[in-house]
Amino acid sequence: MVQVRTLALMALALASTSALGQPAKTTVLTGGMLISGLSVPPLHNARVVIQGERVVAVGPASEVAIPAGAEVIDTSGQTMLPGLIDAHAHLFMVGFGDEAGWFKWLKADGRKYSIEKVMELSAYQLLMSGVTSAIDLGGNPVESISLRNRINKGEVAGPRLQVSGPLVTRRAFGGFPAEASAVITTPKEGAETVDRLFKMGVDVIKAHAGLTREDYFAIVKAAHANRIKVHAHLYAEADVRNAYDAGVDVFQHMGSAGGPTYDPELVRTIAESNRPVVLTAAHRSWIYPDTVAFPARLQDPVLKSLFPADIWAAMQESFKEWPAEGHFAGINRQVKFRSPQVRQLIESNALMGVGTDSGTPMNFNTDGLVREMKVLVDEGLSPLEVIADTTRVNARIMGQSDVGTIEPGKRADIITVPGDPVYHNLNNLFTVQTVIKNGVTYKKDGVPTIKMPE
Ligand SMILES: [Zn+2]
Ligand SMILES: [Zn+2]
Repeated sequence: MVQVRTLALMALALASTSALGQPAKTTVLTGGMLISGLSVPPLHNARVVIQGERVVAVGPASEVAIPAGAEVIDTSGQTMLPGLIDAHAHLFMVGFGDEAGWFKWLKADGRKYSIEKVMELSAYQLLMSGVTSAIDLGGNPVESISLRNRINKGEVAGPRLQVSGPLVTRRAFGGFPAEASAVITTPKEGAETVDRLFKMGVDVIKAHAGLTREDYFAIVKAAHANRIKVHAHLYAEADVRNAYDAGVDVFQHMGSAGGPTYDPELVRTIAESNRPVVLTAAHRSWIYPDTVAFPARLQDPVLKSLFPADIWAAMQESFKEWPAEGHFAGINRQVKFRSPQVRQLIESNALMGVGTDSGTPMNFNTDGLVREMKVLVDEGLSPLEVIADTTRVNARIMGQSDVGTIEPGKRADIITVPGDPVYHNLNNLFTVQTVIKNGVTYKKDGVPTIKMPE
């Protein structure tokens, strides 16, 4: 019995010391409105106490004491909310005008930037924009796994990552690094590829479009045997059906296909299954017309401040012909069908994750997630619902139960924005003031506390 108590005391002592053995830092956020991510009304004049990596107290400022020696951040006039989570990012791309052109530039003029260096830059951009966790769905496996591990060890600043490595696909993705596609020719190869990627250390599997029904079954079976999830990249109804029947865990891109709405029965079945859908609605159908409407968004000074000068210059060059890019070949159709498709998923009450397909043309790691969130609000979800989908639901998609809400015991992933994002339909999220991840402050008063990776 004594032993048990000693262990408990040791656990408590460990909890309040940092990895370096120093007493854990205490930070208090106080005065602002709190959106906890729990789908309850916001709490006014709230206070959050962080000790080390965790939240230890949450409540009205009048009821929660400020511990002695705490660093106090005044959040009056602001809103505190959980760090955002992007359920579909690509850190090896930065929003260049065309994807193939980006990888070509990296091989020629941008040789000093390795794929892992690019991913470090994207990680910095995401973090400075309030994204404290992300699922990277398609990239080079060695570099993705390495970056994830270095972030976890605190060697590099960035969101906590889950990574898929390459797309499991029947056809290599043209213009991308060869390592970003794992080409299979049979279902058996699909299963073997899943086992190989799992052994390398990926967190999830990304099943690309164009797989056969038998491929999906083999891939899902192998992934689930290794206790990892399968995210399926799909637009076409036939793919959705096959993926659903095979037991795919997350439907990525569904609802942004640029075609008529899906069979209502299929959508109802998916909604009832409670398997999440991540629409990535904005990545073409809103990004394109929004950029036509305000092309100067491509020269946004905040965006510019988050890029090294040489990459920025190359990007500006790449934007010159952007409306003609193949990425937007189907744009008329996509814009025409964008609302009915998104609304069909929203009205079905499907479990909704939120992701961006970030890094694709003009879909930046800086503002992409907030653009996506705003689309969901414009198409019928309430701002509070969208915040909960982007935090709590996305954490559930990651299977990461200790993030996604602001509650005692959870990891301290908290951001603040000026004013009330509910009233302003989430626009305030474009100007994140404070970013705290795992109890460490990365941005304060709108200013990064760390340097951009070079
Ligand atoms: Zn995809
Ligand atoms: Zn993608």
